[in-house]
Amino acid sequence: MGEESARDVFRRAAEHAARFREKIAEAPQRPEVSYPAALETFHEPLPEQGSPGLDVADELAAKAEPGLNAMTGPRFFGWVIGGSHPVGVAADWMTSAWGQNAGNHHAAPAAAAAEAVVAKWLIDLLDLPRQSSVGFVTGATVANFVCLAAARGEVLRKVGWDVEAQGLFGAPPATVLIGDDAHTTVFSALQFLGLGRDRVVRVKTDNSGRITAPAFTEAAAGISGPCITILQAGQINTGAFDDFTGIMPIARRMGAWVHIDGAFGLWARTCPGRRALTDHVEQADSWATDGHKWLQTPYDCGYAIIRDQEAHRRAMTIAASYLPPSHEGERDPSHFVPELSRRARGFATWAMIKHLGREGIAAMVERHCRVARAMAERLSRQNGIAVLNDVVLNQFIVRFGADRPDEEGDRLTQSTIERLQADGICFAGGASWRGRKVMRLSVISWLTDDRAGEVAADAIVAAWQAAGDARSESGENLDHTQTQLEEESTC
Ligand SMILES: *Cc1c(COP(=O)(O)O)cnc(C)c1O
Repeated sequence: MGEESARDVFRRAAEHAARFREKIAEAPQRPEVSYPAALETFHEPLPEQGSPGLDVADELAAKAEPGLNAMTGPRFFGWVIGGSHPVGVAADWMTSAWGQNAGNHHAAPAAAAAEAVVAKWLIDLLDLPRQSSVGFVTGATVANFVCLAAARGEVLRKVGWDVEAQGLFGAPPATVLIGDDAHTTVFSALQFLGLGRDRVVRVKTDNSGRITAPAFTEAAAGISGPCITILQAGQINTGAFDDFTGIMPIARRMGAWVHIDGAFGLWARTCPGRRALTDHVEQADSWATDGHKWLQTPYDCGYAIIRDQEAHRRAMTIAASYLPPSHEGERDPSHFVPELSRRARGFATWAMIKHLGREGIAAMVERHCRVARAMAERLSRQNGIAVLNDVVLNQFIVRFGADRPDEEGDRLTQSTIERLQADGICFAGGASWRGRKVMRLSVISWLTDDRAGEVAADAIVAAWQAAGDARSESGENLDHTQTQLEEESTC
């Protein structure tokens, strides 16, 4: 590495990172440049000669920063994005510096031990069955995949089919029940598992995107044989929870494996004031959730939690003669995830739980829910702005021009989003809900407090007013913008 020590390079990286974070609250809550400009910045032929490490660190910071989104900012409400807390980031840096291949406990004892302990903490924190096993994965997408792989194995094993050995060709058919408002990544998981995105029984959802017991009963009528039921804790637009209390006994009577996608919503369990939303979720067989959303770990971090540890291991274990076997009480991280070699994800989770504690996590979740509701109320005071959901958690969707015809409302909502993003005071993106355009907000960064919520809500009102003014000044005609909207929706 030439003249530079590892210490020099680490220090330089830390300086760049700290400088970036120090200005994040004041920076525009969006990237300064778009993708083509970022591509232009990075574009160069393959380097033939190497460069000193300090120069590489400097050049990377200079090139990346203009194209970095303010996902760690206090007024960033796009998608569902945790704030990559500095304590988690620090643990993650050390994880990289330690360079542990976290596959098994002989090779990396500390990494395996941290995961074993953190698995117990997570189960305690989320109050799930204590015997459950946890796989530390990249996010809820893969957590859903792991849980549904175990579900697939188990429902087929019960009818005498070994899917891990024999695959799906010739297997007895299994039914998958899933709600109309499930997250798209659950359909991806079904696709990867050979269960099919479309080969499912869809369950109708209500206005807030939840499955009710009557809807579930109707969809499940006449279903027999192997069955996987997928429910949701926290709908991405409305934050709504399926009616676990009503549905769980029915699913149990059917002998179905019940899986819960609780990427962010499962964290309501940590918070006494919100916990009732998740009542009876603990009766399920598996749960997928994220660390990089509400727990604020850096990317990437998710957890696949499965009641039946054997089913979990059967679905995931990579058996190879050169791998030492694991004995009673010894836990190999690779037995619970698809990968063999991977980073030691348990350390960042350990650090975040250690830093916040049960109480700190509960207080943060409650604060986010409170800020979301206050923002929704502040926006709803304006005639013409409507919050479309009951704000039970941290997610809400907003419609502008709510007092106008649908197409006009779509256009005003779209131009308000564009205006807001250009202003850069806060960030929110668009979504579609029941066929109409909405602005979606997720309050989920550790930096977001009541004041940030007020500033953001006022910025949204200002963007809406400016968008409305611009529209009436330009005397936009309806037919013209109608076409624009249709073009956009075909993308
Ligand atoms: C974010 C999310 C996912 C996907 O999780 P990733 O962490 O992006 O892999 C799945 N389900 C729900 C409800 C989510 O919010």
